[in-house]
Amino acid sequence: MTDSLITIDGDRLWRSLMELAEIGAYDDARTGLRGVNRLALTDADAEGRRLVLGWFRQAGMSVRIDPMGNLIARRDGTDPGAAPVMTGSHLDSVATAGAFDGCLGVLGGLEVVRTLTERGISTRRPIEVVVFTEEEGVRFGTDMLGSAVAAGRIAIKDAHDLIDRDGLSVGAELRRTGFAGDGPARFDPPHAYVECHIEQGPVLAEAGLTVGVVTGVQAISWQEITISGRAAHAGTTPTELRADAGLAAAQIIVALRKMVDSGSYGQLRATVGHLAVHPDLTNIVPARAQLTVDLRNPDDEQMARAEADLAGYLAGLEGSQPGLGLSTRRMARTSHVPFDHGIQKAIATAADDHGLAHLSLLSGAGHDAQEMAAICPTAMIFVRGEYDGISHNPREYSTPQACARGIDVLATTLVRLAGE
Ligand SMILES: [Zn+2]
Repeated sequence: MTDSLITIDGDRLWRSLMELAEIGAYDDARTGLRGVNRLALTDADAEGRRLVLGWFRQAGMSVRIDPMGNLIARRDGTDPGAAPVMTGSHLDSVATAGAFDGCLGVLGGLEVVRTLTERGISTRRPIEVVVFTEEEGVRFGTDMLGSAVAAGRIAIKDAHDLIDRDGLSVGAELRRTGFAGDGPARFDPPHAYVECHIEQGPVLAEAGLTVGVVTGVQAISWQEITISGRAAHAGTTPTELRADAGLAAAQIIVALRKMVDSGSYGQLRATVGHLAVHPDLTNIVPARAQLTVDLRNPDDEQMARAEADLAGYLAGLEGSQPGLGLSTRRMARTSHVPFDHGIQKAIATAADDHGLAHLSLLSGAGHDAQEMAAICPTAMIFVRGEYDGISHNPREYSTPQACARGIDVLATTLVRLAGE
């Protein structure tokens, strides 16, 4: 079935991506490149949202803002009663981002609508493009926040009450930026959700391919560990009398790596990306250390075992130095989310019809699609990244051609699903 094959305007898509990347742009000293910093619900994020909201309206779409600040832009179908086919992603970024993470999915959805309208193509079902709030979780500590509320996993009140490091709440920041909308916080289940996103990994480039069909998202576990020891003079305090929080933090990092290297937790990945010691002085034994542990695993059972064994290790570590104390705080936890086979098939067929070879792969990163999968048939399209797929970095790059091909596949998939 190639009658509904849609080819989008790759130049227009690229121009939109580059124009949006100017908002929150900064000169990155480490890479010498222009980066993007649009943490959720900051002034820069709000400016980016307003730009894209204007583009939605110019494309003839009606836009609803929900109580979580999610933007839902709609292109009507011919059947007013039919559930929409939804696509989208996020516009918020980490502090050192590139131009593509999230933005490709949102602007790609917009480009699909622009193309359909330009060519006078109507669909039976409406097509909705959604911008989810605080996908990155960097500012308020919970990733996929907007989509988790939309899909009903997190209550709107709990989401509004989350605070950033300065004590500012999601609810207050939504009001301040003008994105505290109304209506129901939970979405009515759409007919399907399809998200196009950069891969953020090296698999497609290594295989020499432009697009991939995502089979699901692996389990993710985030926790924060706080270690309390005792500040002591570096010169005068005998080693055996120390409660060295810094030492314990280092031991945790090494223990995690040993767990990974042991191979007994399947494809476990473990990362300590944040580590801070107090008082952070050359000649003082650290009194306190705080670190985060990020675990990923495609297998829920292996993940649960890794978490339990880490907890056991921490309990043992507490007794290893007199006066050492440990506490943990769960930051995020999601299970392995398998995507819908029918939607994967629709994406694969669209890629075939566009003459694009593809492979199927599991996502190593979390995405809004994993939340949407709880309420409707869902899958994702991945677009190849350059430089080993580096992401969350100004070096993040996908070529104009790769972006266009990914959105071609998205367009064709959406139009076919919207005709069902
Ligand atoms: Zn993203």
